[in-house]
Amino acid sequence: MARYRDALCKLCRRDGEKLFLKGGRCTTDKCAIDKRKYPPGQHGQRRGKLSDYAVQLKEKQKVKRIYGLLEKQFSKYFKEAEKKKGITGELLLQFLERRLDNIVYRIGFTSNRNQARQLVLHGHFRVNGKKVNIPSYNVKVGDVIAVHEASKKLNVFGENLQRQQHEGVLSWLEVDFAGYKGKVLHVPSRDDIPLTAKEQLIVEFYSR
Ligand code: SF4
Repeated sequence: MARYRDALCKLCRRDGEKLFLKGGRCTTDKCAIDKRKYPPGQHGQRRGKLSDYAVQLKEKQKVKRIYGLLEKQFSKYFKEAEKKKGITGELLLQFLERRLDNIVYRIGFTSNRNQARQLVLHGHFRVNGKKVNIPSYNVKVGDVIAVHEASKKLNVFGENLQRQQHEGVLSWLEVDFAGYKGKVLHVPSRDDIPLTAKEQLIVEFYSR
């Protein structure tokens, strides 16, 4: 699967805000955007006022980067959201939130979505007892996502779950920290999704 391979911090600097792509590092003074809050590149510090189109594009790029997707995958989710009845922007976010790599991250098995994608690809998770190693797998309400028995000994899961237990769990998820598993209780509403994005701008971008 094709994916972005350049420095993740450049993506935050391009968007001019923290996208929290590196987990723990993002809240320390090592965060690149705290040091250089301007876009990377030779002309990074010279950019002026943005047009409406640029603002919409920027928002779309931001959300795409947060979930670690390429354009083709992202626009596919948008088309699916557009076909369904309801608020397109909210439906888009619901599709993104129900990806297996995102759920693994939201439960707290990993500190960021990049790490989640890697560990899903390496087969460390079970969905309702069956091995699933597809990051884009669409998790449904009632599905139980668990760390594979043999993978529980890896420090990464214990450490991340400990941190998550301290930070708390999202209302639409249930987590059994001792059992290394979590369950999706319901599809999240917009208010349940902790994401500072203006999804209406994305709808406007694709509606042009
Ligand atoms: Fe973005 Fe995290 Fe890098 Fe800061 S440390 S620039 S929030 S990825």
